[in-house]
Amino acid sequence: MIAHTPTLFAAVALVATIMAFCLLLVGQYNRRDNLLLTGCGLLAHALAYICYTLYAQAPLWVSYALGNSLLSLALAFYSASLFRVRELKVPWRVIFIIPLCMLGGLLLLLETLEPRMLLATVVLMAQCGLLLHWARRHAERPGRAHLLLVIGASISLVGLGMRVIAVLGGEAADMRYDISNLKQTVSVAIGTVTVMMYSLGLVLMAKERSESRLQHMALHDVLTGTYNRRAILQRFDQELERARDEGSYLAVAMIDIDHFKRINDLYGHLAGDEVLCHCVRQLQRRLRAADSLGRYGGEEFLLLLPHTDREGAMAALQGLRQAIAQSPAQFADDTIELRFSVGLWCAVPGPDDSAAALLGRADAALYQAKADGRNTVHMAAVSGPC
Ligand code: GH3
Ligand code: MG
Ligand code: MG
Repeated sequence: MIAHTPTLFAAVALVATIMAFCLLLVGQYNRRDNLLLTGCGLLAHALAYICYTLYAQAPLWVSYALGNSLLSLALAFYSASLFRVRELKVPWRVIFIIPLCMLGGLLLLLETLEPRMLLATVVLMAQCGLLLHWARRHAERPGRAHLLLVIGASISLVGLGMRVIAVLGGEAADMRYDISNLKQTVSVAIGTVTVMMYSLGLVLMAKERSESRLQHMALHDVLTGTYNRRAILQRFDQELERARDEGSYLAVAMIDIDHFKRINDLYGHLAGDEVLCHCVRQLQRRLRAADSLGRYGGEEFLLLLPHTDREGAMAALQGLRQAIAQSPAQFADDTIELRFSVGLWCAVPGPDDSAAALLGRADAALYQAKADGRNTVHMAAVSGPC
């Protein structure tokens, strides 16, 4: 089916204008996310297609040079939006110098046909390539939104590649914006698809980003950044089930800073906060990737060491205890010594070993460690209270 090319351009411009209007409207309310930049991209996209619609009616610098520079500007905004949504510094100069160079180059080559077509198409291809590169390079956890953006940029590259081949094959005159043929119809249809994919991808990315931020907040302790009570208990359930299924060892350590109240009283609560952060940093530096640490309560931490037998767990906890004792925290001009006591339970969990029961045993062992004079590790007996 061959569609009337200027009408297709007008349809794309209309769709992009409506989408731009919606995003610019909602983007106002949170300028830190990427909706405003995506909206600006869509607006530039819409204006570009309006310029194309005017081909042969308006001066060539408007319908061709300005039109293609606006499309390049749209891609620049989409790239900026991608950096913004990933909370990275936007390389404004690199991104926005390209549309300016495109405008300058097209104005210089305006009287030619093939060279100006090649310049416009190759620059747009380079921008799509850059967008793809940035999308892949900065992807933390490539999700559905990332996929849409990658597909959009890849389809753009194919569409633009078709134009380059047509121009190099001597069909430049057939690709003029006022000519309607199958190639033009396919080319503009590809343009429409990519508008949708870029904008939907970028909007979805903002959603995914805010979801992952909320999830992080729900599972991490605000002060120390380690898992919070809810998250470490979830990990505990998972590790317990795994150890039971595999018949492997699991070590559960309840760590409590000694005389923490005194630290608060002597140095102040802010110093106490710093001691908690310092303690977490020191512990995390020394843990294996499979270990999990979480803040169970005020100055109490729960540590899970999977695949660790009783000897190994005792050696690991003693090592951590000594390391912490030898690395005091620093707050303002104060050097603050800290010690902790540990209640440890370690075994291959049986069917009756519920998370609550094991926590109770580690807690009872901690109580015993405190009674033994603190700054020590007490291992609970495999069965029974401790
Ligand atoms: P023990 O050796 O028996 O564990 O004594 P302790 O002083 O460490 O324990 P205690 O339970 O008496 O006091 C814990 C203190 O920790 C009381 C509470 O104000 C303080 N605390 C709890 N959460 C925080 C926090 O987020 N920041 C600070 N700075 N202090 C906290
Ligand atoms: Mg304490
Ligand atoms: Mg305590």
